[in-house]
Amino acid sequence: MKPIELTVGKLHKEGVDAITLWPFILYRRGHRDDIALRAHEHFHWRQAQRWGVLPWYLWYLALVPFYFRKPSQEHPLERPAYELQWQIQEKLKAGISIEAELASVGLP
Ligand SMILES: [Zn+2]
Repeated sequence: MKPIELTVGKLHKEGVDAITLWPFILYRRGHRDDIALRAHEHFHWRQAQRWGVLPWYLWYLALVPFYFRKPSQEHPLERPAYELQWQIQEKLKAGISIEAELASVGLP
């Protein structure tokens, strides 16, 4: 199964460019072509698929109060998604192939 990726005009929060809401990944207009962001969301999507969608969301939400007002990358379920996203951004800047990173989240 693959996520259904959609572009929307607005998301729930200012500064949020994408969100994974099983079985969808929603992108704010203008951000869907950002391959590093797509990999970030696909990472969440696969995480949810592995853990079970409901347990994943419940665990995610249960941890939110502990990371309130902290940078979102500090949330334990966000950290690895951001690390992948940053790794892709760095490799793109350096002109290095990101094939392995994309394959790790099932992106062609
Ligand atoms: Zn995320």
